[in-house]
Amino acid sequence: MKLLDKFTATTAIRDALQRDGVSPTAIVIDQILSPTEALINGRRTLLVGTNNYLGLTFDPDCIEAGRTALTRSGTGTTGSRMANGTYLEHCLLEQELAAFFGYPHGMVFSTGYAANLGCLAALLGPGDAVLLDGDAHASLYDGCRMTGAEIYRFKHNDADSLRKRMRRLGAQANRTLIVVEGLYSVLGDIAPLADFASVRDEFGACLFVDEAHSFGVFGNKGGGLAEQLGLLDRVDFIVGTFSKSLGSIGGFCVSRHDELPLFRYASRPYIFTASPCPSVIATTRAALRQIGARPQLRTQLWRNAQRLHEGLTAQGFTLGAAASPVIAVRMGERDAALHFWQRLLAAGVYTNLMLPPATPDGGSLVRCSVTAAHTDAQIDTVLQAFRAAAAQSVTATS
Ligand code: PMP
Repeated sequence: MKLLDKFTATTAIRDALQRDGVSPTAIVIDQILSPTEALINGRRTLLVGTNNYLGLTFDPDCIEAGRTALTRSGTGTTGSRMANGTYLEHCLLEQELAAFFGYPHGMVFSTGYAANLGCLAALLGPGDAVLLDGDAHASLYDGCRMTGAEIYRFKHNDADSLRKRMRRLGAQANRTLIVVEGLYSVLGDIAPLADFASVRDEFGACLFVDEAHSFGVFGNKGGGLAEQLGLLDRVDFIVGTFSKSLGSIGGFCVSRHDELPLFRYASRPYIFTASPCPSVIATTRAALRQIGARPQLRTQLWRNAQRLHEGLTAQGFTLGAAASPVIAVRMGERDAALHFWQRLLAAGVYTNLMLPPATPDGGSLVRCSVTAAHTDAQIDTVLQAFRAAAAQSVTATS
């Protein structure tokens, strides 16, 4: 087999997705109009699959902060912090993130993916053991794998399964890392974080929580699930992304441990990549201020989540979890999901199609994510589009 022959299988996957019309992997947004609308294929389309939870991508303060930084500090840093130097604003954002959680330390990465790789690379090495939730994001899995640590996956969101695995580790248990998320982005379900913290305490392990989808979404201040549950002093490392509630791009880790700043010397995904550019840092800082100052964004987000969840439940759809800003609709077979997703798009509603193996239990999903910027009328349009697409499914199969 020649090197490029392996792409024959990839071509077949791509062609299967394109076979019956618009492919979910080939969507081009001609123009983004607002946090909730875009032009797609020349049509004004309602966006319900952006993870733009607080709708801050068009916030005037964030845009102005980015514009000012662009003019003042240029388009990019052109290199990594270790080699080319840290900008003062990187440090300020790190301090502001740490202060947001009431922790002493913060560290900024170029993406959330890099934050996970970077922190896990610093924490783990050959001979260490990591206990990873069965549905953990690819970046957590990849991060664990690249360290050479022994990976033990426990049953998703199951503290008993974690405890059992921990027991089997015997004396090694008190030097393990437990890796979980807050809000899971495929089904929209939420980690039993207090139970995981109890296992952590019981065995003297460390707890690492990826709050990519929960930062800005949970907590009085918007700090995430650990903040909401009062667990900030029983979690060891919190990582997150700038690409969801904060509306930009980048990642972070915050911690109460004085070892966090040492990650800078032990983390290749931090050392060998360019640092976030000035405009990104500035918009992120502005968004962080908004999250702190405008709790009403979170109230509106949850109101919208409830409205969509209730509406879809009333229509008889089977949903992935209780109401949260991620609402996954179970579609059964792969083709049924693809066609349903295409019908929604044809009706001017953009959602996310999730197919196995990217789904936890092998089923296919049409996933929505709501934002604080959606209006009631927009949520009702989404509900109407689901109703119409379901009616078409019935016609198509009868
Ligand atoms: N962690 C989780 C749980 C995620 O869902 C994602 C991205 N969707 C990431 C990390 C990576 O974040 P980023 O897109 O900033 O690389």
